[in-house]
Amino acid sequence: MTNVTANNHCNEWDLLITDANIATMDSNIDAPYGAIEHAALAIKDGHIAWLGKQTELPSFDALATPIISAKGQWLTPGLIDCHTHLVFAGSRAEEFEQRLQGVSYEQIAAQGGGIASTVTATRAADHETLFVLAKDRLNALYSEGVTTVEIKSGYGLDCENEVKILEVARLLGENHPVDVKTTFLGAHALPPEYQGRSDEYIELVCNGMLTQVVAGNLADAVDVFCENVGFSHAQTRRVFAAATKHGLPVKCHAEQLSNQHGAELVAEFKGLSADHIEHLDEQGVKAMAAAGTVAVLLPGAFYFLRETKQPPIALLKQYNVPMAISTDFNPGTSPLCSLQLMMNMGCTLFRLTPEETLAGVTKNAAKALGLSDRGVLKVGMRADIAHWQISHPAQLSYQLGVNKLLNLWVLGRLN
Ligand SMILES: [Zn+2]
Repeated sequence: MTNVTANNHCNEWDLLITDANIATMDSNIDAPYGAIEHAALAIKDGHIAWLGKQTELPSFDALATPIISAKGQWLTPGLIDCHTHLVFAGSRAEEFEQRLQGVSYEQIAAQGGGIASTVTATRAADHETLFVLAKDRLNALYSEGVTTVEIKSGYGLDCENEVKILEVARLLGENHPVDVKTTFLGAHALPPEYQGRSDEYIELVCNGMLTQVVAGNLADAVDVFCENVGFSHAQTRRVFAAATKHGLPVKCHAEQLSNQHGAELVAEFKGLSADHIEHLDEQGVKAMAAAGTVAVLLPGAFYFLRETKQPPIALLKQYNVPMAISTDFNPGTSPLCSLQLMMNMGCTLFRLTPEETLAGVTKNAAKALGLSDRGVLKVGMRADIAHWQISHPAQLSYQLGVNKLLNLWVLGRLN
């Protein structure tokens, strides 16, 4: 059960939320969603100081404690979007239109379109321009209850511009209530000036860019796009080895279009997550299970690319691999800046349950970022809490287009 021990400091709470139903997502609580109904939750110094049945509240100084009634509505952990490419300039809407008019990917690429157009626009944009563009996107996520976001680089593809993107991501974290974690994805695509010289580019990623990124403390993790249209297994291994030497955890865009055994490679490096994984096989699933690597499902890219090959959900469940869900927000393959939409797609496209999708954007997303201080509501955790006008937590995956968020606390602060 929850911590119902009388708390000596309960008269010093910063806030008490009463009349709540709480989807704690705590697996130690034996109820769907780890739910506690008719509950209360207290916050002190940005963290959860007490939660449990309201009838079990220890005595507290009602005059000294600010109290908010949740009015019988639901609290969940603040949502976590653990895979985004939020900082970029330019739009690919015209390409979207061209493709629907029958122009092929190859023709679009030959015109300088595709990822190359985003790289050109991002290189040309200054810090301020990128900051303003990304802040709007961050606001959109925040308005739907997101309190932690991961942001990758990967549209600079040279030292100066990869550093610029990560600096903008760090600035966003410092100037926005949402907590931002950054990932260096220099090995996202081969820049035009390195065509035919991918090993030389990987050398630059490992010894030029990464050194600068580490010196500036600009990244919390390192990612590689391991794919036949990205970087090879051997090249991915080189980047992972360099990251490990600098003490940075690794993750991978793996098995999206083919099986390159990228997930096994992440597992070998005890990495955080393997992301996409539509083409993952049982061997890869077993490796991830043994290493504690999280499976990050990206239904937005699956939908937008009209893919048909599903990630191996049944195998992931069989081997108890934690599954996170994320937007993969990016201009090319997932221009969908809504984590709630991804929750819905997790159910409709991948047949996850609403409880699994909520775990995917809370506790499992926290695990995918290596964060043990959030994603579950229990004593000692960060007070990142979303307050929803819903009658059941399944409603978060079920309904779209109506913003059900009433309040959002980040580190105990209501913004
Ligand atoms: Zn991605």
